[in-house]
Amino acid sequence: MRLVVDLNRCQGYAQCAFLAPDVFTMRGDEALLYNPHADKAQREQVLRAATACPVQAILVEDDPDDASEAASSRLTGAGEGLSSVR
Ligand code: SF4
Repeated sequence: MRLVVDLNRCQGYAQCAFLAPDVFTMRGDEALLYNPHADKAQREQVLRAATACPVQAILVEDDPDDASEAASSRLTGAGEGLSSVR
């Protein structure tokens, strides 16, 4: 699965880091570090984090190469990797 965080929306509430700590990590107050290619085993956590994000900044897409995953689930957003949230 692939995911991106819309850093224009992200306000650093850290709900994602709480719900999926293996994928999202807060670095200080201003930077969100995340794995844009989360493992399929982390899918539940990532979807929970995306649902819980107060500003719906997390976009989750299933990897088209993985036939076992369902159709994509777009929440919102753009951007990836380590980036400032403010
Ligand atoms: S992506 Fe959403 S839940 Fe995660 S830090 Fe940003 S605002 Fe908070």
